[in-house]
Amino acid sequence: AERNPGQPEFLQAVTEVVESLWPFIIKQPRYAEHGLLDRLVEPERVIMFRVAWVDDHGEVKVNRGYRIQHNSAIGPYKGGTRFHPSVNLSILKFLAFEQTFKNALTTLPMGGGKGGSDFDPKGRSPGEVMRFCQAYVSELFRHIGADTDVPAGDIGVGGREIGFMVGMVRKLTNRSDCVFTGKGLSFGGSLLRPEATGYGVVYFVDEMLKHAGRSFDGLRVAVSGSGNVAQFAIEKAMALGAKVVTVSDSSGSIVDEAGFTAEKLAVLAEIKNHLYGRVSDYAERVGAKFLPGEKPWHVPVDVALPCATQNEISEDEAAVLIKQGVSCVAEGANMPCTAGAIERFERAKVLFAPGKASNAGGVSTSGLEMSQQAMRLSWGHEEVDMRLQGIMKAIHQSCVDYGIADDGSVNYVDGANIAGFVKVSNAMQMQGVI
Ligand code: NDP
Repeated sequence: AERNPGQPEFLQAVTEVVESLWPFIIKQPRYAEHGLLDRLVEPERVIMFRVAWVDDHGEVKVNRGYRIQHNSAIGPYKGGTRFHPSVNLSILKFLAFEQTFKNALTTLPMGGGKGGSDFDPKGRSPGEVMRFCQAYVSELFRHIGADTDVPAGDIGVGGREIGFMVGMVRKLTNRSDCVFTGKGLSFGGSLLRPEATGYGVVYFVDEMLKHAGRSFDGLRVAVSGSGNVAQFAIEKAMALGAKVVTVSDSSGSIVDEAGFTAEKLAVLAEIKNHLYGRVSDYAERVGAKFLPGEKPWHVPVDVALPCATQNEISEDEAAVLIKQGVSCVAEGANMPCTAGAIERFERAKVLFAPGKASNAGGVSTSGLEMSQQAMRLSWGHEEVDMRLQGIMKAIHQSCVDYGIADDGSVNYVDGANIAGFVKVSNAMQMQGVI
């Protein structure tokens, strides 16, 4: 804490991971040798820079840009770019630290990083967004590269912003290699990247259920959110025979006892992706019940998939879900469950998957995008899907290998933390003290 004053999120993330690793390290003390833990929590490099740009009224604006290059022991730094007014050093360091473990779990050679700016894209014209992206990347470009650091999108950074940044880097470097992922299909993007996180969450749950001798078929599922992750999680859950009975957004929740159908999902996608509408508009269109201001955790379900935002399941809400019969929870969003909620699920023997494992399908498919661009070819839909499924299976197996208890139950939080840690630590140990 003395080394990192004013960084509560970073300290919280490190504390949670170290607490989960500690019993393992006691049993295997070589993982505490050579200052390994001290080195692992210290980012290899932190880059902070001025981003000056001109708004539509000719006024000069100054934002702060960041890139945290946390750990490159197993491959180039890899992680998203967040444009949001809340962005600061603590949040990006926490995300880069977590990303290092998530990327290690994917089986692909990717280190961990994260970046962004305190720029707020809300209310900015497309021209302003483009000029900001160009200004941001005109400093960042000298620190990234296909074999060094490959940023992607995150909150406030979608396909449009990635395109602007890729274009500027290409102009500055006169090169076309893979310096960003999440690109359009015509300039190096991968099929299935939009679907990957949502599909991946459901593939992971399917593995958890199979491991417990159960199946997705006929289960009732609550999904929160209605954005990218939520929509594709719903689609895949339905494909595996589940009945999805909720969605939500920041205005409230939908409860639809009849369950989602492909037609209803198409209506939701149209409203959220093209009309920028609310789930209440969706309720009106399909005749479902809208509960203003409520979260979707008060309905009897077997499976809950929080796919909206951080801290959306509190300890009390976890208790309600348990009372309503939930037996499996998998994080689609980053950190949607509070520490108290996770503790509740674990005590009630609910199967619980941390986002680090269950939402890793997105970054995995970004890894596949890097491979395709390096080979200068594009895999078809089926090929990418098959690889994504294989990766989610492998992540599940790692969690089982490192998280299985004497009674046969699996602690996926410990399993994911230890499996990621072992991979990165072994690579660091073999490369000497650097
Ligand atoms: P989107 O912006 O597409 O969707 C977010 C959804 O969450 C929207 O429905 C939004 O509602 C809702 N939401 C946001 N804030 C709140 C809130 N305070 N209360 C209730 N609902 C809220 O984002 P994504 O689907 O891409 O991302 C969702 C989560 O998944 C994030 O935590 C993200 O970091 C994580 N994630 C995403 C990956 C990806 O590949 N996209 C990969 C790994 C993790 P509204 O429309 O009202 O804003």
